[in-house]
Amino acid sequence: MSQLTFLAVHAHPDDEASSTGGLYRSLANQGVRTILVTCTNGECGDSPAGAKPDSDEHDMEMVAAVRKVELENAVAILGIDRLVRLGYHDSGMMGWPHNSHDGSFWGTPVEEAAKRLAEILMEERPQVLVTYNEIGFYGHPDHIQANRITLAALAMIDYEPTLYYNAIPDSVFEEMRKRWDEEDEARREEGKSSSALEEVEEEIPEQMSTPDELISAAIDISSVNSVKFDALAAHASQIADSFWMKMGREAFCETNKTEWFLRVTNPQKVEGCVTDIFAGYR
Ligand SMILES: [Zn+2]
Repeated sequence: MSQLTFLAVHAHPDDEASSTGGLYRSLANQGVRTILVTCTNGECGDSPAGAKPDSDEHDMEMVAAVRKVELENAVAILGIDRLVRLGYHDSGMMGWPHNSHDGSFWGTPVEEAAKRLAEILMEERPQVLVTYNEIGFYGHPDHIQANRITLAALAMIDYEPTLYYNAIPDSVFEEMRKRWDEEDEARREEGKSSSALEEVEEEIPEQMSTPDELISAAIDISSVNSVKFDALAAHASQIADSFWMKMGREAFCETNKTEWFLRVTNPQKVEGCVTDIFAGYR
């Protein structure tokens, strides 16, 4: 069997840690070659001082520069062998003026970006790929575009890898929602108004989670979740204030023991829910 190689297509710096951090570290520990394609520079993230992209204090160039370093640190922590930054401009949330910013990922023709991805796929020949589903997991244009260029690139290459979408089972999402609601309740009792979580929740479409019985890969990350926590923490400008960091390492490790995926292409004819994302290849 040739070298096992894994590649994920992510939209922004920090997505690799939040949705595939445990998987990346586990695969690296197993000697699998791991590659990360990050499509945008994340210009629409928070500034290190917490300024939002619509604020005068927000400097997109500076945010991108900070996030580049944070991404490189996370890549080192996760043991990722090769990072490819496609360098598109962050498109912001749906409807933002950044959607049509010069060089925005959302404004780039799918074919054009897909060709660049296809070249990387042909060079590295990963057997297993991960990206987001058609709604970009939570409706972010850059995540939707990551899905589109991945599917388009698959049609351009001379072999068929196994593609998975990252996923959250309904039952787990239900638990998360409960925790968020409790946090919001606590905030209200403290006299604070809306939380960032409330804002996110408003934007999350109902179909964000996946029926438990459809989950086709459940990866045990319990031996590496502390490293996943470190990779998330490396994205301090975006994540320092998040519920993950607030819960602390111990509680994070207690509650983050699995990463879930949905199989989309299946050239190895694998059946059921696997615990090894390279099932069929080893
Ligand atoms: Zn993202």
